[in-house]
Amino acid sequence: MDHFLYRDGALFAEDVPVADIAASVGTPFYLYSAATLLRHFQLFDDALAGVDHLVCFAMKSASNQAILKLLGDAGAGMDVVSGGEYARARAAGISGNKIVFSGIGKTRAEMEMALTGGIRQFNVESEPEMLALSAVATDLGVVAPITVRVNPDVDAKTHEKIATGRKGDKFGIPISRAREIYAVAAKLPSLKVIGIDVHIGSQLTDLAPFKTAYEKVADLTEHLRADGHEISRLDLGGGLGIPYAIGDNDRPPLPAQYGEMIIDTLGHLGCEIEIEPGRLISGNAGILVSQIIYIKSGEDREFMILDGAMNDLIRPAMYGAHHDIIPVIEPPAGVDKTPYDIVGPVCESGDTFAKARDMPPMNAGDLVAFRSAGAYGAVMSSEYNTRPLIPEVLVMGDQFAVIRPRPTYDDIINRDTVPEWL
Ligand SMILES: *Cc1c(COP(=O)(O)O)cnc(C)c1O
Repeated sequence: MDHFLYRDGALFAEDVPVADIAASVGTPFYLYSAATLLRHFQLFDDALAGVDHLVCFAMKSASNQAILKLLGDAGAGMDVVSGGEYARARAAGISGNKIVFSGIGKTRAEMEMALTGGIRQFNVESEPEMLALSAVATDLGVVAPITVRVNPDVDAKTHEKIATGRKGDKFGIPISRAREIYAVAAKLPSLKVIGIDVHIGSQLTDLAPFKTAYEKVADLTEHLRADGHEISRLDLGGGLGIPYAIGDNDRPPLPAQYGEMIIDTLGHLGCEIEIEPGRLISGNAGILVSQIIYIKSGEDREFMILDGAMNDLIRPAMYGAHHDIIPVIEPPAGVDKTPYDIVGPVCESGDTFAKARDMPPMNAGDLVAFRSAGAYGAVMSSEYNTRPLIPEVLVMGDQFAVIRPRPTYDDIINRDTVPEWL
């Protein structure tokens, strides 16, 4: 459920008409609902209420500081995957002891930054990384708390580009070698092993692969404890999927069902549980609002040409992802629909959001909203074609604020420097 609904024939974000925001901010822009973000966080927090836990928002899905502060104030920790994300989380007021650091390529500089600024744990993904972290922590005279990310060799049955838990994927260490690698970690100076980490992929629409992975983690916990390691924390990653199409009857499991499965599978171990949801918290909490520039008749089809493009929302081009695209003025019930190819202005055919999408009659100047655009939307945008990064706006009740302004052309152009010798 989200807070982007029609009221009296117009699309609202919570209590604000989307068209009013468009008039004030200009199009295209991203629009987030604070109530939806908080509600989704709360669903996870409630789902794990029976156990000691921390919900760490995977901020790579939506990293504006206003969103981080909103969730942080509600009690969320953060899962970061780069030094930039770490700095951003800290700037948003998240304390180091609520930040977990994931990712397969942490540099020494990033490790130093997190060890100096404060960190809850590093999720270590390889032996070389373990050696580097041990060396950096020793130099700083501190102890680095770690989990080791294991790759459980489970097929998450999701899109090829976002599956991460099969043995050929680049993530984690093979679970079959875990005992050996934990033995190495235990001997290294300045590291403190505190638990196990696993993350098998994104946009999972079934609990079964999670359960298989978590059962393997439960077994491993017992083996590692028998080997003398203190395993007190299990980081179970993110990945729960969201419905991208209204009326799709293949609904992903709910956070409550996910939480119940976690407690059933791992609750008996007495560990603190961490989860790292991203998409389920932010995905349906954001829309992309765009204006129709032209309606153009092609040889055998109609094109709807928008002012938003693949540089603003790359998911359709990159993953073949579906986004519902709805008019900001509600069409009359039962109106005849026409198929349109919905495209952006960027100079490549990949800049196509939808093919033959049935839409009600629409004209140049009308506004449309891409639903489910809150996750992996703004964060993956670029300035391709020298198109400015589009603004982000946050709504809470009847208030809204621009949380990232649209840069001017000068802002973009003045970042280039032309060498004197040219
Ligand atoms: C991307 C990622 C997540 C979040 O995945 P979602 O599908 O957005 O929930 C969590 N943990 C790690 C390590 C990730 O790489």
